[in-house]
Amino acid sequence: MSRYWSPLVARLHPYVPGEQPAESNLVKLNTNESPYGPSPRVLEALRAELDERLRLYPPPESDALRDAIAHAHGLSRENVFVGNGSDEVLAHAFLGLMNQPEPILLPDITYSFYPVYCGLYGIRYETVSVDERFAIDPAAYARPNGGIVFANPNAPTGCALLLPALAAMAQASRRVVLVDEAYVDFGAASAVSLLPRHDNVLVVRTFSKSRALAGLRLGYALGHPELIEALTRVKNSFNSYPVDRLAQVAGIAALEDVAYFEAMRDRVIASRERLAAQLSQLGFEVLPSATNFLFARHLGHDAKQLTRELRARKVLVRHFDKPRIAQFLRITVGTDAQCDALVSALAELV
Ligand SMILES: *Cc1c(COP(=O)(O)O)cnc(C)c1O
Repeated sequence: MSRYWSPLVARLHPYVPGEQPAESNLVKLNTNESPYGPSPRVLEALRAELDERLRLYPPPESDALRDAIAHAHGLSRENVFVGNGSDEVLAHAFLGLMNQPEPILLPDITYSFYPVYCGLYGIRYETVSVDERFAIDPAAYARPNGGIVFANPNAPTGCALLLPALAAMAQASRRVVLVDEAYVDFGAASAVSLLPRHDNVLVVRTFSKSRALAGLRLGYALGHPELIEALTRVKNSFNSYPVDRLAQVAGIAALEDVAYFEAMRDRVIASRERLAAQLSQLGFEVLPSATNFLFARHLGHDAKQLTRELRARKVLVRHFDKPRIAQFLRITVGTDAQCDALVSALAELV
């Protein structure tokens, strides 16, 4: 706290990201990164871009990248917005679309960055409880709102909502329904197919998880051109060049290597099912996951303490000290070898 801070900054409760340790000998299963590197074609594209052109600003509207994303989804450039990670895309969507007279609706358990944006932009929100199986209940959102935001599959639970439920929510809302699809590639149905019939659906995606490019910072939104224009207006009132030259070419290369993407995704899904079975055998209750992480609790052991004891054994997982989920561990699916290291450590603890 400083007397130089604005009242707004003094009031903020910033998001706290998972630990990025300086040591390299840890089994890092705490921030849902891919255990595999990005496509070799991405690295090639980056090397080819590394020359004196770095003195030039990048294309401000990332047209070639937006064309590639549009092509991958059967849409056109006007349906695509790109940003410096989907966190930035989400921030612009909150400011540009969610700042309405009525409070927006968020699940009580979801990505904890959403309330942070509300705090930053002075957006009022109400939370809607997920049910006892941690599923989003679409009917509970059928009331006046300034917008609806949730992740599908949801984070940190991993639970996915089916498309008809999503369509019903979009139909019932007079405002924008923002579906954060950070994990959709690992097993959920995408709301992209709803876009032609629902001009109030905004889908947000990232290259950080299934494309193994968290370090590059690249995310995007898909939706009706008028929604996209709102994001572009915010972007160009904030930073005209959020996606640098390297990220633009790397994103295109990542989308081109479909075979690599599918192979790595399938590996993660196979490891997820293997790890879920191993955790169940150790006595954990494991929620069904359509993501690259598992959300699990052990009735006989405190989750916060387990997280600490795993850290002492050089295994990082994520724990959220929040109502309803304080007894869960969120475990990123690593390689089978990383998962085995986690399971061995847990076998000593439970
Ligand atoms: C990881 C994650 C993001 C952020 O992705 P970036 O593109 O790396 O900013 C957004 N939403 C959810 C639900 C996530 O888990």
